[in-house]
Amino acid sequence: MATCKLCNNSGFFLNPDNAGICPSCAKDFYPHAVETQQKFNALLHALDAEPPPAPIVALSFFEQAMRLGEEMVSWEEKGINLFSVKPTETLKKLKRFHQEYIDEHKQIARKQTEAIVSSGEVPASFLRLLSYFVKPRTLYSILSPGWNLAWETMLGEQPKAVLDQFIAKGYLREATPKEKTELNLTVAQLKELLRRNGEKPTGKKEDLLEQVINKVNIETISSLWQYNDVYVCSEKGLLIANKYLDEEQTEKQKAFDESIEQLKRGDLSGASKTFVKFYSRYKYPDPAPVSIGYNISTTPMAESVERSLRAIVGEQASREFEEDAVLMELARELWSPYRSELPKLFGSYDILIKKTRRIDTPENQKAGFYKGLHYTDYVEMINQHKREGQYEKALEDILGCISVIEKEESFIPPWYYKQAAIVYRKLKRKDMAEKYDYKYERIVLSNQEEHERRVEELPEEERNRWYPDGYPENQEVKRLRNKGIIDI
Ligand SMILES: [Zn+2]
Repeated sequence: MATCKLCNNSGFFLNPDNAGICPSCAKDFYPHAVETQQKFNALLHALDAEPPPAPIVALSFFEQAMRLGEEMVSWEEKGINLFSVKPTETLKKLKRFHQEYIDEHKQIARKQTEAIVSSGEVPASFLRLLSYFVKPRTLYSILSPGWNLAWETMLGEQPKAVLDQFIAKGYLREATPKEKTELNLTVAQLKELLRRNGEKPTGKKEDLLEQVINKVNIETISSLWQYNDVYVCSEKGLLIANKYLDEEQTEKQKAFDESIEQLKRGDLSGASKTFVKFYSRYKYPDPAPVSIGYNISTTPMAESVERSLRAIVGEQASREFEEDAVLMELARELWSPYRSELPKLFGSYDILIKKTRRIDTPENQKAGFYKGLHYTDYVEMINQHKREGQYEKALEDILGCISVIEKEESFIPPWYYKQAAIVYRKLKRKDMAEKYDYKYERIVLSNQEEHERRVEELPEEERNRWYPDGYPENQEVKRLRNKGIIDI
């Protein structure tokens, strides 16, 4: 009797393919496997690029590639052989490369830390770590596997060792139960706690917190903490952490002023270098990070920002712009306070954004384009097909749109899913209609929740001004919520 290597189902009529995979698994598995391998190769390629990516980026590439590698190995372990080189071999090589990379960078970092420590100063990268704790924070947020490595490369030292020093010397203290509760519990949890203790929850998070601490048994409260290792700067620690943050702010202001002068003179190249020099110091403070971050990323980054700037002022509106979009956003953020002083610059930026969104590049096809048109351009066509009773045609367009929509990240427009359900019903395919109805309802509710979450995160003043009663529910959301659909 044949058994599928993936789902382990077996049966006489299972018909697994040559790799030992049953048809129902194969449908999703192969596209996923191809995508996994492509992503994996793309990451290796990026790690090998000249000039190499900055350490913090490289470490995240390593991490992602290893995760994909582990997944490919899991297939190999099930006896599914898809790749010419065995994933175990590839992963082994990657891990070795990773180790070499870390060793090399740690050494550079350590040498520079030693030089600074021996001169009697607290290294800036240490202060940067301390400044993370001006508000209560978990040690785990620094010591979790990915970040631990990034910090170690920056500090030239195990972050745990540096934190221990700060604690031993009294710069960091353990958070109070109240501070821990504030960090660990949401407003909803605080309210629930009060209700369960027969209290009436009132006021903002601060008031609720105060009530909880005064009225509820500390053991009950602490049983809800997810993290207990919460620390915060002591008074002494705050002093030097704030001094560091002030200096950083001054540096930033200096970079603003200098680069803006250069921009006014039309010195785009100089402005870009000033910007990147600040940016890399900010990302990689002294000692180690500057040299690592600066040497590795500054030159190509400055060139990239300069390209973006030239694009902003209209000298080079090209496809390259798309690639530089992230840096361009950064550059724009840096110089946006000077928007009124540099109308030409920002005027062309806005026009350029509109222009490049229209260019039909492969990138654009990825971002919401189906068969050469943006999915929003299909609305009228889909309605037309429906009016004419051409349901198959309508369905083809709807599903095409959905396939590109699902690549969108935050808000998925529910309309297309509703249309799919309607059309499937017309075609007497009840199972599919129900499936799309269900998807539609989930999307409506999760969009709503995302809006509500964003409103919650607004600064209090803005929230009170625009959304005194929270993000409003529209009729459809009310209907679904009454129906009892719960978004997971
Ligand atoms: Zn199967």
